[in-house]
Amino acid sequence: MPTETFEFQVEARQLLQLMIHSVYSNKDVFLRELVSNASDALDKLRLAALRDDSLDADTSDLHIEIDLDPDARTLTVRDNGIGMSYDEVGKLIGTIANSGTAEFLKELKEAQDAAGAEGLIGQFGVGFYSGFMAADEMTLVTRRAGEGSGTRWSSRGEGTYTLENVADAPQGTAVTLHLKPADPENQLHDYTSTWKIKEIVKRYSDFITWPIRLVPKPGDEGEDAPEPETLNSMKALWARSRDEVSDDEYHELYKHVSHDWRDPLETIRLQAEGTFEYQALLFLPAHAPHDLFTRDFRRGLQLYVKRVLIMDDCEALLPPYLRFVKGVVDAQDLSLNVSREILQQDRHIRMIQRRLTKKVLSSVKEMKAGDPDKYAAFWREFGAVLKEGLFGDPDNRDALLAVASFASTHAEDEPTTLQQYVERMTDGQDDIYYMTGESRQSIENSPHMEAFRARGVEVLLLTDAVDEVWVDAVGEFDGKKLRSVAKGEIDLDVQGDEQADGEREKQTEAYAALLGWLKEQLAEDVKDVRLSTRLTVSPACVVSDAHDLTPALENMYRAMGQEIPPTKRILELNPAHPLVQGLNQAYQEREDRAELVETAELLHGLAVLAEGGQPKEPARFVKLVAERLEQALR
Ligand code: ADP
Repeated sequence: MPTETFEFQVEARQLLQLMIHSVYSNKDVFLRELVSNASDALDKLRLAALRDDSLDADTSDLHIEIDLDPDARTLTVRDNGIGMSYDEVGKLIGTIANSGTAEFLKELKEAQDAAGAEGLIGQFGVGFYSGFMAADEMTLVTRRAGEGSGTRWSSRGEGTYTLENVADAPQGTAVTLHLKPADPENQLHDYTSTWKIKEIVKRYSDFITWPIRLVPKPGDEGEDAPEPETLNSMKALWARSRDEVSDDEYHELYKHVSHDWRDPLETIRLQAEGTFEYQALLFLPAHAPHDLFTRDFRRGLQLYVKRVLIMDDCEALLPPYLRFVKGVVDAQDLSLNVSREILQQDRHIRMIQRRLTKKVLSSVKEMKAGDPDKYAAFWREFGAVLKEGLFGDPDNRDALLAVASFASTHAEDEPTTLQQYVERMTDGQDDIYYMTGESRQSIENSPHMEAFRARGVEVLLLTDAVDEVWVDAVGEFDGKKLRSVAKGEIDLDVQGDEQADGEREKQTEAYAALLGWLKEQLAEDVKDVRLSTRLTVSPACVVSDAHDLTPALENMYRAMGQEIPPTKRILELNPAHPLVQGLNQAYQEREDRAELVETAELLHGLAVLAEGGQPKEPARFVKLVAERLEQALR
């Protein structure tokens, strides 16, 4: 097959441009990325050989090699791992599969400055392509373990790459960087310097479990070739004591397992002794990945048995609501050959999951007490995921509630815990009030909040999709019911206030006929019409019955493909509002109520609009409003 030339996918080309023009200031990390890929390839081969005895692959001396040629100005990172087939090279190296890429490039366009672009690259990590920070040409020769022939990929990073078959490629992958010309001003960045390479490997890749060897320079004639030198200690960080390992070393391990280029927010160590021994090193990332809420989010920890990786992305080690946690678990007594399905059922794995979950939650709690800013950053990024645990993991509900915080009317930018809310509750308040909605602003402007604002009653402002679900599942906290301000009847008046009670009785009588009539007129849209105790300035609002689905929840079920019949809601009127008073008077005085039917329709439409909804027939609604405005001008 002749050499074929291909165009890079658009996204890949844009990314390459960035790499070539190097907006990323720390170029050394390209080596970390190539070594990390090589290490993954060795892991994959070992696992493949473990599962398939018939795989025709050599696993006798798995290692990574770095080969420097100062004269040719090349640097090669070689592994004898899994390798790639011809098709895989095109797929994996020619395109960028990361589901966040489109998002990434959009943000990149918006981030005009270099600092913004650097932050974004760090956020996504671009692995293999980072080689172009140091090279003006890259070639990759690879042979998939078990296959007969190999593939050569080559590119100058501009618009195209070439692919060709090569008959005699060794098993695994060799990536060769044709380095950019040396900068005489800056010898420190000479990647053909042995010293420089040793330093980079030590700094970023010391913990890699496979040997990283430096290929020795050929000796003088007649001498024996010198032995290759292994540059990394290969010591598992999780097996070493805390004071032996620096924060930076932990952070590099995090970057290797997560493919994130930024430091983690928190490192969590756990050593379980006793009959079932294991060690864990967990990381809380500093930022939520873009695909955290997508179906194909890759979750899970690396599972080792006595220092040997047996599974990548092991989901069974943590519950779904901790899917953002990265890290490593190393157990003493697990079978090396265990399948994912079996693992899900394994008693020991379940035990580890329980323990890790508690450990993560207690770490968050400590963070909250000891470093409130860090906790706030954590909760901002991952609070919405953790809240899934409030209904998904009843056993840890209390621990989750202890670390959960929510926006509240109490303070603009200071979230509150439920405990703090309860401590602030005033005499006579029995329930914890909340309202769900799109944003803080839309909730605060909603008519349902009026009476609460007028009386200074605190309301939690819940804006995550998951909030609708957990509030129902949790139901109460510290003996206080969680109540939506937009559901059921609300009685904020101090109990036993006889004057208020008497007033209400009178109003109920005065409005009884109108309410009955409205209920008939609007029967298609609402199930009841009643006087409101929540409104102070708006004429009307719609509320849900205490046990009904809210519109947001209905939408959520529909989005998940469930058939949900629309739930009728309740229209509430504000008897203190002139429009409502006028309507009542007109109802009593007029024989011909045709016009009032329209007024009723308008009133309902206004109530729906006020909570951010849409009137049933927007065009008709607009027409009616326009007619009324016109009448008012006459
Ligand atoms: P990432 O490592 O974040 O997935 P990369 O761009 O670094 O992104 O690599 C893309 C893919 O190419 C890898 O996921 C892997 O499947 C493949 N790949 C890269 N380097 C190697 C290698 N040395 N051996 C085998 N496959 C590799």
